[in-house]
Amino acid sequence: MKIKDWQEYLNREIPCSCSKEHRCDIDEILIEAGALKKLPGILSRYNYQNICVVSDIHTEQVAGKTVSALLNENGYQYTKVVFPEDELIPDERILGSLLVDLPQNCDLILAVGSGTINDLCKFISYKLNIDYFILATAPSMDGFASNVAPLIVKNLKTTYEVGKPKVIIGDLEILKEAPISMIAAGAGDILGKYVCLTDWKLAHLVTGEYYCEYVESLIRSSIEAVVSAIPRVKERDEEAIGSIMEGLVLSGIAMSYVGNSRPASGSEHHLSHYWEMMSLFGGSHGALHGTKVGIGTVLGLRMYEKLGEKLDNLKEKSASFHRDAWDQLIREAYRQAAPQVILLENQVHKNADDAVHSRVNELEKHKEEIRKMIAALPKADEIAGMLKEMDAPFQPAQIGVDHKTLKNSVLYAKELRNRFGLLQFLFDTGELEEMSELAVREFSCQN
Ligand SMILES: [Zn+2]
Ligand SMILES: [Zn+2]
Repeated sequence: MKIKDWQEYLNREIPCSCSKEHRCDIDEILIEAGALKKLPGILSRYNYQNICVVSDIHTEQVAGKTVSALLNENGYQYTKVVFPEDELIPDERILGSLLVDLPQNCDLILAVGSGTINDLCKFISYKLNIDYFILATAPSMDGFASNVAPLIVKNLKTTYEVGKPKVIIGDLEILKEAPISMIAAGAGDILGKYVCLTDWKLAHLVTGEYYCEYVESLIRSSIEAVVSAIPRVKERDEEAIGSIMEGLVLSGIAMSYVGNSRPASGSEHHLSHYWEMMSLFGGSHGALHGTKVGIGTVLGLRMYEKLGEKLDNLKEKSASFHRDAWDQLIREAYRQAAPQVILLENQVHKNADDAVHSRVNELEKHKEEIRKMIAALPKADEIAGMLKEMDAPFQPAQIGVDHKTLKNSVLYAKELRNRFGLLQFLFDTGELEEMSELAVREFSCQN
């Protein structure tokens, strides 16, 4: 496998036609077989005196023990924090627990893991201004290089802008042994970019939101890397796993360039976040993030297909927005997270009639561009086929999302964020209710 030269993306100002200068401060990204053995060499370039190695019971087995051995051999002082939970929820409780265990004057958090371990450690290292390394144990999500960390705070899935790691190590010998479901989740997180890039472009056309073609092109390369790797995932082909990891890291860099998750998270992620919150309220963890995003992508693409068919006959939604009735629906759909969702609407008024009216005017003006964007998308069935090829779920019912939750997710997932995209488009044009019924009709049974 050809090792990618990451330095062209890192630690320098990249002037861009979008008028921003893009920058991603990460010292080193190492994705190769045997990368873990290079950890002492990398550490020797810094002067850390008090390292904290954070893992969970699973990642401790697959890489944490080797990290300890390497640190011992090279005479480093370190403390270990091994989360005993079988599955971690990135909420206030676990953040507090990490804070309690973190040694005084810690100068490096070395996280051994992927999803939740990465999010927790990235958040804490940023808050406490401690350097951060991530040693990835599974190519399961695109948050390695990003400057955001999604956490569950006050019951709501919220994405925080945080710092970035100094070093990312992806040892292919470790990554290729990750459960296939985790590798497929990583691929699912990237397949979601088909929907989210369309959402982003749509927002640019309709609300004038910032948009960057260069960042889009990076995400497109990340999609290409992943799509070409999917047929070789099940055989754990090292090069394919490497391509997926590279795609995930590149997507994170793209987020860092913009400063938030906009290039990598749209309606497919909002659906996934809604399902996740409902699972947690019901006391279960639910599927992996990327698994849900993959399913959200199939659903999102199907809704885009339908929207494409209706484009000529769209009107502004006829009923005016009734706050009291809406508040009640949100309380039912969001339960303990409702206060935060209602607060957001109070701040931004995204559903107010005048906001809807001005967006529908812009939609009308850009109809032809929108038509082309929708026509360029892959079909929902194609993406479902790719997920099937990795034995990954592709329908909400396969991960325990019931009819009611599915319908509510289409209707209300957009309320989690102030981010224009497919679902708000459908709301604005009065198509959302019908689309939620279509989702239930087409996606409630496994086939
Ligand atoms: Zn740019
Ligand atoms: Zn994601």
